[in-house]
Amino acid sequence: METLMEVGYLVALVCFVLGIKGMSDPATSNRGNLVLALGMGLAVLVTLFLPGLSNLPYILGSLVLGSVIGLRMSGQAKMTEMPQMVSLLNGFGGLAAALVALAEVVDLLYGEGLLRLLTQTSGMGSMGSYYLVFYIVTLMISLSVGGISFTGSVFAMAKLDGKVSGQPIRFPMQGLVTNGLLFAQVLLIVGMILAPTYAEPMVYLLFVLSLVYGVLFVMPIGGADMPVVISFLNSLTGLTAATTGLLFDNRAMLMGGVLVGASGVYLTVLMCKAMNRTLGAVLLGQFNASGGGAGREMNGQIREIGTYDAAVLLAYSSRVVVVPGYGMAVAQAQHPMHELEKLLVSKGVQCRYAIHPVAGRMPGHMNVLLAEADVSYDLLLEMEAINPEFPQTDVVVVVGANDVVNPAAETDPGSPVYGMPILKAYQAKNIIVIKRSMAAGYAGVENELFYDPKTRMLFGDAKAVLSELIQAVKGL
Ligand code: NDP
Repeated sequence: METLMEVGYLVALVCFVLGIKGMSDPATSNRGNLVLALGMGLAVLVTLFLPGLSNLPYILGSLVLGSVIGLRMSGQAKMTEMPQMVSLLNGFGGLAAALVALAEVVDLLYGEGLLRLLTQTSGMGSMGSYYLVFYIVTLMISLSVGGISFTGSVFAMAKLDGKVSGQPIRFPMQGLVTNGLLFAQVLLIVGMILAPTYAEPMVYLLFVLSLVYGVLFVMPIGGADMPVVISFLNSLTGLTAATTGLLFDNRAMLMGGVLVGASGVYLTVLMCKAMNRTLGAVLLGQFNASGGGAGREMNGQIREIGTYDAAVLLAYSSRVVVVPGYGMAVAQAQHPMHELEKLLVSKGVQCRYAIHPVAGRMPGHMNVLLAEADVSYDLLLEMEAINPEFPQTDVVVVVGANDVVNPAAETDPGSPVYGMPILKAYQAKNIIVIKRSMAAGYAGVENELFYDPKTRMLFGDAKAVLSELIQAVKGL
């Protein structure tokens, strides 16, 4: 039986690795997702056969309940709400790992008599106690990191969802309070070893402090840095799961945690690179620190264009580049966009898409939307590939994008988006911007591209405007 279980875990691990590999390409991502789910299902199934597992009815009941809730949530979540959902589910992962560590540490203290042992050896007596100290410290770190990941992720979800301000939230002596709380957690872990008599209240206090710290940690981070912090918290959850798997000698949990942790760290680094920011600056909430640029006076005037004129401009161009952004996701305008693209191609126009790594509200947001509308992958160009081509582009159509084409990222050191690599749409010969109003994007800053003499604004909901454009191009 034991060998069978080992084989089951091994197959689950292979599924995890293959699934993640599949997710790296839009063409295989659906299959990758399925393989990952199968691997996770198998790991859960094998775990149910662990020797000495008790409370089976509770476990099965929770499994059924969790699956029903998960199915409902995934069925109801809109594409634009995916980042919030990812953040929430990640938070639950952190909470689960923290609760496992909490239950284990309390059980060890009383059930296994660890408290007695630690007290007798004053925490540092024999070689055996060194292992116990290591074991308990690791559990406490798991507890703390899991707690931070839980409340941090839930707070990040609330920020993304607009339930609290998406901008950095600051208060006096914030750094002192936040760092003090982190230091207090370290003291509690050390204190538990040195004064084990007070271990129980210290464990609970550590858990509470970690929950508070999670919120304080995310508070000063905002604007365009949210995806980075969510990915970072995701990697923390992976780390906690891996540590817990190590302590319980559960290979599936260990490897699953390592994979989540490693891919989370990798994604975090990639996103920091995409925004030209260091992880330290992101986590210290240095984004928006100056607050400058948000209310900067714009020079120039807004020029509008009608649907017919826009259709003529597009249909008689040689090269068109579409820059999709969050507004396309809100309007669900990917289908009319694809239709317009096919129409232009049928008229001999080269029409491609420029994909910014953080366009929308989650990494890969635009790729997923455009894939859903059956846009060919060959037409999607990453930022590095398309940027050199803007000067030769006749028309750039900005569909509900804002921050990712804001030239202030290059020209205004006082701007909150300064330093973030952008799609250089401003270099094109003509720019048509489709959006509903002059409202700012996610980072809350004005966009000087809209005041550029080469830019024409086509106001309206992206789906409605694109549908009108299709009719106008057809009528030419
Ligand atoms: P932005 O959020 O900068 O701008 C979106 C624009 O879409 C708005 O200015 C809005 O203007 C317009 N819009 C909204 N609804 C519609 C609609 N129905 N029809 C037409 N236009 C609409 O989007 P970007 O994609 O340019 O930039 C993404 C931002 O989000 C970046 O700051 C990024 O850092 C951040 N972010 C990215 C994440 C990621 O992983 N991708 C995650 C979290 C944040 P108006 O209201 O006038 O229509």
